[in-house]
Amino acid sequence: METTSQDVVIVGAGPTGLALGAELRRLGTPALILDKLAAGANTSRAVVVHARTLEVLEPLGVTSELLQEGLIVPIFRIRHGGRILVNVTFKDLNTKYPFTLMCPQDRTEAILLRRLVSLGGAVERPCKVVNVRDFGTDVEVQFQTDALTRKLRPKWLVGCDGMHSVVRDHAYIPFEGGSYDESFVLADVQMDWPLDRQEVSLFFSGTGLVLVAPLPDNRFRIVATMAGAPAEPSIADIEAILKQRGPEDGVVSIRRMLWSSRFHIQHRVVKNMRRGNILLAGDAAHIHSPAGGQGMNTGIQDAVSLAAALHSTLASGNDAPLNAWQEKRLKIAHSVVEMTDRMTKLATSSSAAVQMLRNVAVEIIGNIPFAQHALAQSLSELDNR
Ligand SMILES: Cc1cc2nc3c(=O)[nH]c(=O)nc-3n(C[C@H](O)[C@H](O)[C@H](O)COP(=O)(O)OP(=O)(O)OC[C@H]3O[C@@H](n4cnc5c(N)ncnc54)[C@H](O)[C@@H]3O)c2cc1C
Repeated sequence: METTSQDVVIVGAGPTGLALGAELRRLGTPALILDKLAAGANTSRAVVVHARTLEVLEPLGVTSELLQEGLIVPIFRIRHGGRILVNVTFKDLNTKYPFTLMCPQDRTEAILLRRLVSLGGAVERPCKVVNVRDFGTDVEVQFQTDALTRKLRPKWLVGCDGMHSVVRDHAYIPFEGGSYDESFVLADVQMDWPLDRQEVSLFFSGTGLVLVAPLPDNRFRIVATMAGAPAEPSIADIEAILKQRGPEDGVVSIRRMLWSSRFHIQHRVVKNMRRGNILLAGDAAHIHSPAGGQGMNTGIQDAVSLAAALHSTLASGNDAPLNAWQEKRLKIAHSVVEMTDRMTKLATSSSAAVQMLRNVAVEIIGNIPFAQHALAQSLSELDNR
């Protein structure tokens, strides 16, 4: 058994683990971060950074860099062909950041990693955690690095190791929920697009949904439902979807495909985010539909508030802040899963009658200023303050 001078070991260097490690260092509690991959992932994945995330990252000093790297997009519209059903503007929100920021996840992770390193931290790679045991006062974590198996015994272990969390499994924490039937395709492209780049557009249609979001460097992110989706959708697949479900006017032509993928989605929340001296945050604790782009945001916000709770518990020996953290973050995780579930079911209903009623109801509600504001407030996660 090796000793560690650090009281906290974090498993996983995705956005959640990086934000937690950097914020803990800023507060004066260095943690060891282990990740199984030899290098960080370099794909765009989550592209939306919401106002509340920009607020909570401000003390860490990374918000200005995110703003420089990202693209400010202040409008979200739900459309059906040429009709606008809902027009949500983030401009009236009571925050310094009244917009959504489009910034690919690899850039967000690079910014968080740079900040961690500037505070004297690092990620230990490749270190694959294979076993975890809670002893009540501390935790044993076993990991493989090169051909060696090593063990450490920190006071606290935090699983930020994503949806297939090994830490969660070894802590026997149930991950309750289910999955959706639809398969989705995702593509980052350069294309000629007839609508404003100030807008994220979600199109409802009789054959499924398609979302188009502008990204930095004249790119766009496209997400759509697609039955029997191929592992790597082609330009022709995506063009056909846009032609069928997108705007009525204007020719959409994809000039370059930068990345494409397919995915299935689940909705699950852990029963506990703390068991003994083991804690869970980010996708290890909650996963849901990408509707509204909440996943990475909720994970980063879990992490920043967990850093304060852990720092305070280590300083005082009183674990009440960790229990309060768990209570608050579990409530938020459940409400994110419920909101994204409602949005997904609404957008993916396949019955023509339900679709017609949905469009009428959405258009009526979507034109009530109070409802528009409430949706902007919830999507931006400012309700979590
Ligand atoms: C294709 C795609 C598109 C997405 N689009 C969006 C979007 O538009 N908006 C949004 O908000 N979210 C989106 N997401 C989800 C978003 O990417 C996740 O919510 C986010 O990455 C969660 O961050 P995390 O740090 O909690 O977990 P992860 O990013 O999954 O990081 C977990 C880390 O743990 C490491 N790890 C795992 N197991 C071990 C182990 N045993 N030992 C050591 N290390 C381990 C992994 O290597 C990884 O680095 C998307 C995801 C995908 C895949």
